[in-house]
Amino acid sequence: MFELPKLPYDYSALEPHIDEQTMRIHHGKHHAGYVEKLNAALQGFKQNPPGSIENILRNLKDLPLDIQTAVRNNGGGHANHSIFWQSMSPKGGGTPEGKLKIAIESAFGGFETLKEKFTEAALSRFGSGWVWLSLDDGKLVIESTANQDSPFIESRTPILGLDLWEHAYYLKYQNRRGDYVNAWWNVVNWSKAEEQFLGIRK
Ligand code: MN
Repeated sequence: MFELPKLPYDYSALEPHIDEQTMRIHHGKHHAGYVEKLNAALQGFKQNPPGSIENILRNLKDLPLDIQTAVRNNGGGHANHSIFWQSMSPKGGGTPEGKLKIAIESAFGGFETLKEKFTEAALSRFGSGWVWLSLDDGKLVIESTANQDSPFIESRTPILGLDLWEHAYYLKYQNRRGDYVNAWWNVVNWSKAEEQFLGIRK
């Protein structure tokens, strides 16, 4: 059974950039719903426990056909949101440091270019989805996925993710996705992203 992870900060901690009401509904209803439906899909699945959500998504095609779509959507939803909460912090913002900074310079030329390309990917995602800073075979890439598709499904490893579903911003920003994305940079948890980056590179 998968469980809804606790937020590493209060619901109001990311104000004014991400509002408390959105955080409460997003975590307590949306993410909780994905966990519930993921567990329902895996119920009766003979391999118990089924392993980490990362491994399940990486090996999605090994699952019985009749639950692959449910696990892709709800398992993806669970994995994506778990990364999303970690991608933010009330002490966030600023710019990447250390080895992640160096890797960003080498992959994109610098933080400003990364920010520009990431924002562009966020604004051009049609409909619901995500934008990610991921590792693809050891190389940093910006990618966007539709719906709740996870980079793990494509054998990539997300180290930072931004939710582009309207439920992530509509209460405060309505149709202004660009304002939401701009505000999000103020809460990005770069030290967590570097931790993820270094852990993966080990
Ligand atoms: Mn969401």
